[in-house]
Amino acid sequence: MRTVILVVLLCLAVLTAPLGWYLASRSLQPAPKKPVETVDPAEFEALRKSVDELTERVDELEVKLSRADIRRPDTSYADEEAPKEDAMAGNYAKVVQIADRRGVNEGLTHASASFLEELLGLPREDLTDECQPMTNETLKNLLVAEDVGPIKVNMLRPAVESLRQVFRNVQIEEPELYARIQGSGSLCVRRIRGAESAASAHAYGLAVDINIDGHLDQLGDGRTQLGLILMADYFNREGWYWGAGFGREDSMHFEVSREKLQQWRRLGKI
Ligand SMILES: [Zn+2]
Repeated sequence: MRTVILVVLLCLAVLTAPLGWYLASRSLQPAPKKPVETVDPAEFEALRKSVDELTERVDELEVKLSRADIRRPDTSYADEEAPKEDAMAGNYAKVVQIADRRGVNEGLTHASASFLEELLGLPREDLTDECQPMTNETLKNLLVAEDVGPIKVNMLRPAVESLRQVFRNVQIEEPELYARIQGSGSLCVRRIRGAESAASAHAYGLAVDINIDGHLDQLGDGRTQLGLILMADYFNREGWYWGAGFGREDSMHFEVSREKLQQWRRLGKI
């Protein structure tokens, strides 16, 4: 029995000898490059995180750069309009072309006169071309004249609260711009010029006109003050529609969007 086992083992040794020789010769050769490195999952996760952080940082810097570009003091303008140390201020009031003005109200819809009338009823039955007192009792009860930060307005309560938030954000993020904001009117209960009885957002106390340094914007020229372009972002964030996107550009005009009004209706605010 033992002999049989020995013979079998011997045969096995003889048969596997070439394999043994092959393996031994391979082990003498320089080790080939490892095809795949084993990666520690934690290390991989940490690397992925730092790549994400860096990408985010680059995005932030790009935004900052583009905004800094808007604010870069324009000395030629500053020389004419403002003292050198106040070059920044000159830029806020500077009038420039509005880029893609039809696309400035992304995500928001203009609340048309018929939409407003259907939602709230006319603010007054006998509308004329002059500003008159509001007679719609429901709306009148919502009307408040209050300070919203840089200006005082006469508007519906939820609009006043929302406007206050808009200006609060500007005050925190752009204090120099905030200091230059002036009002050009809010409530005026009258019909839209040329219309029989349609009333604009101003007639409902849902619109405000603003400007930088008291320079009124020229209607319909497709241009506006740099400060108003910056302001438009803050208004958009709170659901306000910018008049720069109207058929006839009215860039000092900001009004509550249809979406915001529908939200207020759902919440029982109007
Ligand atoms: Zn207006």
